[in-house]
Amino acid sequence: MSALRDRYDTLLLDLDGVVYRGEAAVPHAIEALNAAQAQGIACCYVTNNASRTADEVAHHLRALGLSVDERQVVTSAQVAAVLVAQLLEPGSAVLALGGPAVAYYLEQAGFRPVASDVDHPSAVVQGYGPGVGWADLAEASYALARGVPWIATNTDSTFPTRRGLALGNGSLVAALTHATGRVPDAVAGKPEPALLTQALERMHSQAALMIGDRLDTDIAAGSRLGVDTLLVLTGVCTEEASFHARGLERPTWVGQDLRCLAAEPIRWYPKGVRHA
Ligand SMILES: [Mg+2]
Repeated sequence: MSALRDRYDTLLLDLDGVVYRGEAAVPHAIEALNAAQAQGIACCYVTNNASRTADEVAHHLRALGLSVDERQVVTSAQVAAVLVAQLLEPGSAVLALGGPAVAYYLEQAGFRPVASDVDHPSAVVQGYGPGVGWADLAEASYALARGVPWIATNTDSTFPTRRGLALGNGSLVAALTHATGRVPDAVAGKPEPALLTQALERMHSQAALMIGDRLDTDIAAGSRLGVDTLLVLTGVCTEEASFHARGLERPTWVGQDLRCLAAEPIRWYPKGVRHA
């Protein structure tokens, strides 16, 4: 028997709805990923969530029973700082709008994070932070009116909390779009390719599988980079919805949960086949 995981050297994993839901692990996820790693398959965790550092995410994953170091975690705040480095000289002031991780990674990349347009930032980086308020958004609107580059960590309209869906970074990006008439010049997170590109480079992968619970972010991002994709039904997307996926949102594989990595693949969407 040939298991699905035998085809790949690297698993790129979304977190929420794939590895954990809130604080707790998704059933079977930890066992499946430990078994893959024991077989020599690299696991890399890719998250649109910009509110935590890679170290904090790795700590959470270790608490759930995974063997992970921070180099196996790529966050959209990290990648946003990489995108800024393609535009600005080191030492430039950058308006860091979001949680502490946004400013942290700008600083790590050699920039000077600032909170006000009075400091003449040369770019705006916007990521999720629960403390972001009107005054912070106003500073960004002043900077954006001067025409400086605008980089968003991600544009997810919502994210899941214990009490339901809360507004995500994309909703605050939309507020600035409404105010300024601009849209971000670059987005680090899925479905844009930058996050996965960084992960693939870091892991030196030849054959990667992108695993996620959302068609419009995880699966679309993998498809754009030409890597195989696995949709697991432990998060947002239902099996019914997966049947209707089209184009970049069509996964290579669909599994009930991560136990499918150890199984012989049974549900496969051959490329080019269209369901009626
Ligand atoms: Mg997810």
